[in-house]
Amino acid sequence: MKKRKILYKKIARERIDRLFELALEEALSHNFKRADRYVEIARDIGMKYLVRIPRKYNLFFCKKCYRFLLPGKTAKVRINRGKLVITCNYCSFIRRIPLKAKAENI
Ligand SMILES: [Zn+2]
Repeated sequence: MKKRKILYKKIARERIDRLFELALEEALSHNFKRADRYVEIARDIGMKYLVRIPRKYNLFFCKKCYRFLLPGKTAKVRINRGKLVITCNYCSFIRRIPLKAKAENI
């Protein structure tokens, strides 16, 4: 039973990874609604199998409305006072990330 659970988590992680790749592809093709949908599915899988969204994708979606963020298109990215400021163009939620922080803190 435990082995099976580990296997499920592994598959869940792979699927989340793939979904974010697809979301990025769609966003780059300006299919933002489809990109949002992929983020939604990835989150659903993450919650169901208690798998975290990988850190490398952490900046690619809004922490409030969970839509896919593509800098210059669905999000505004600026640097202000040593912080990376990411503004969601949908809900205007602002994230500030200190640039001095280590990558693993993002
Ligand atoms: Zn948002």
